[in-house]
Amino acid sequence: VIKKTTAYGIVTFGITFTYVLVVVAFEFLTRHFWGYYSFWASVPAAFVIAITFVPVRGYLQKTTDTIFFRRMIEYQNIIKEVTRLIVSVTDLNTLFRLIDRTIVRAMCVKNVAILLLEEGQNHYLVEKTNGLPPEVLSIRLSLDSPLASYLKERKDAVVYDEMKALIESDLVTSQEKSKLNKACSELESLGAIAAIPSFTKDKLVGILCLGEKLSGEPYSPDDLELMLTMASEAGIAIENAKLYRDISETRDYLNSIVEGSDDAIITMDLSGRVLTWNEGAKTIFECSPSEAIGKIPPFFTEEELKPLINKVLQAEEVKAIELRKMNKADKEIPLLLTLSPIRSPEGRIIGISAILKDITELRKVDQLKQEFLAVVSHELRTPLTPIKGYLSLLLEGRIGKLEPKQKDALNVILSQSNHLHDLIDSVIDISRIESGRPLELQKEPLFIEDIIKESIDASAIAVKSKQINLMSDFPLTRSAAMADRQKVLRLMDNLLGNAIKFTPPSGSIKVSVEKEDHNIKVSVTDTGIGIEPEELEKVFKSFYQVDTSYTRACGGIGMGLSIAREIVEAHGGRIWAESEGRGKGSTFVFLLLPGK
Ligand code: ADP
Repeated sequence: VIKKTTAYGIVTFGITFTYVLVVVAFEFLTRHFWGYYSFWASVPAAFVIAITFVPVRGYLQKTTDTIFFRRMIEYQNIIKEVTRLIVSVTDLNTLFRLIDRTIVRAMCVKNVAILLLEEGQNHYLVEKTNGLPPEVLSIRLSLDSPLASYLKERKDAVVYDEMKALIESDLVTSQEKSKLNKACSELESLGAIAAIPSFTKDKLVGILCLGEKLSGEPYSPDDLELMLTMASEAGIAIENAKLYRDISETRDYLNSIVEGSDDAIITMDLSGRVLTWNEGAKTIFECSPSEAIGKIPPFFTEEELKPLINKVLQAEEVKAIELRKMNKADKEIPLLLTLSPIRSPEGRIIGISAILKDITELRKVDQLKQEFLAVVSHELRTPLTPIKGYLSLLLEGRIGKLEPKQKDALNVILSQSNHLHDLIDSVIDISRIESGRPLELQKEPLFIEDIIKESIDASAIAVKSKQINLMSDFPLTRSAAMADRQKVLRLMDNLLGNAIKFTPPSGSIKVSVEKEDHNIKVSVTDTGIGIEPEELEKVFKSFYQVDTSYTRACGGIGMGLSIAREIVEAHGGRIWAESEGRGKGSTFVFLLLPGK
């Protein structure tokens, strides 16, 4: 201030002195040449002075500023310029470089440290330093550290000397003094004599710590004001740059996943024209991005694609559809297609993504597996038939008389052989279902009650060993139907087998047959473990078991009910489960049409 006042004083004095000289000279000349003294002659001179004084003084002061205070003007201009620039920078490194260079070079500060809020970590971390030892880079200030708290409280730049002066004054309590002292030590550890906070939306997101100026001058209020403006702009810019960096990283990450995938991952606009075409698509269809982009995908005709796109637009799922398509080299490829909508942030569908998996290898393995299963199950079943036959002969006493203990043992062997037979049948069914072959029925006229009795007789041993009370309730006239005897027997064995399996000893099971609207309604009710309402439908899915640990222990692979449903539906009927919940028993009901 003193420097500036002195300079401006000299300038003003100079101008005044010049004007006085001009007036005196003017008056002297008029008197000397025209020979008369005229007071009025000095009036125009005074008039000229009055008009020109302010602009001339302004101009000269500016010139003085540029001569004597040039550096200050320059760095203030640079800071203003940088502040304007900062907002448009999206790269964090460029931003740091810009801030750092401006301060260190233009303002001639010995050292700076920039601390940024680490979101997930709850602290401020030194992200960049200049002119400071490397250890400073590891400094972290917690969110409630004395310096951060003081900056949050002041919402202004803080200067080390002012803080020290406050500590020595009587203006603050001793508690505040100790906090200020700690804040001063934090500044010292960062080699700073001033700290500029950077707030975005009232949140302290960064701290700019400034060391001494090379000139040794203190920071003027103007300096601090400029730095505050720059810091707050930088705060916003840093937030933006971080966001941009996160987005770029995520984009690169996703890109590398998409490009690295063996599957064809493509995006299309709403009319089905290709927008992006990854490496996988290039390999599978032997078609480069430039050939595919902007056109309908080469493996679809417009007619094929339209209904699929309409489905996606109506937010319906198009998942795991199996297709067989030709690639450019006329090779047929089995594919699994999934289409999903691409939505804008507002939820509008703006595009469609398609993932196509080449399942050639999978199909080959599948084929091998099916062949293997068919051979193995056939080979396993062949010896089982004579084993069961001989067991029956033995039990009937046709080969020789048996002791009761021997009979019991043979009964166990027979029941386990039956179980093994069922398992092999399930394996045959699985391979049949997987290969897509429908269930073949050999229908014949029969009475349902006869089949149920046969099934009940076959389970007699298991019923007896669990001391289960098995009842049946049949109508007076038998229920005639056209059905596949073996399949219906299997269905009954499954339902009865489950009822016995999931009913604790001494429980009861009831099998009843009724006529309902010309249909035959068969129910198997037990007092067993029951089923929760939300599981009632799921139990009919392949391999589904309610409580795997418990049900596995009872034996079974979770195929019985799905096969039961297949059998009933192949006969044009319906099957469902009823239960009031866990522990309350369950009923399995199926309806058969007599004529079909
Ligand atoms: P598995 O009996 O081989 O496990 P199923 O398809 O026959 O397979 O049955 C599927 C699941 O349904 C069983 O694991 C069991 O959790 C449930 N379930 C079937 N029948 C009954 C029943 N009578 N009582 C309680 N739960 C049953």
